[in-house]
Amino acid sequence: MGELPHKYEVDIQPAEKAFKIPDDVKTELKSSGMMDEKGKLKLKGVSPKMLKRMKLEKVDCPVLKKDVGFVQCFVCPNFQSRVIGKVLCKGDPL
Ligand code: SF4
Repeated sequence: MGELPHKYEVDIQPAEKAFKIPDDVKTELKSSGMMDEKGKLKLKGVSPKMLKRMKLEKVDCPVLKKDVGFVQCFVCPNFQSRVIGKVLCKGDPL
């Protein structure tokens, strides 16, 4: 199986605390139905248990040039897939 073209392979690291999702990302999530009005995430194929784990992971994003929570990365337009411990990232400017 061939991989889609991607620019970066970004390591997923454990985070000491859950990362907040920035307000602009929340607005996008709400408009695309991935978050309800109360701010609860509704991600297809992600169980509450997985979500809990994802909240305690982070990536050092090469595009935004800072640490972001894995949940934010997962819903990012650049996110392609997750392979063992890594995110395949398209790397387009955000
Ligand atoms: S998918 Fe988005 S948040 Fe994740 S590393 Fe790439 S640009 Fe950063």
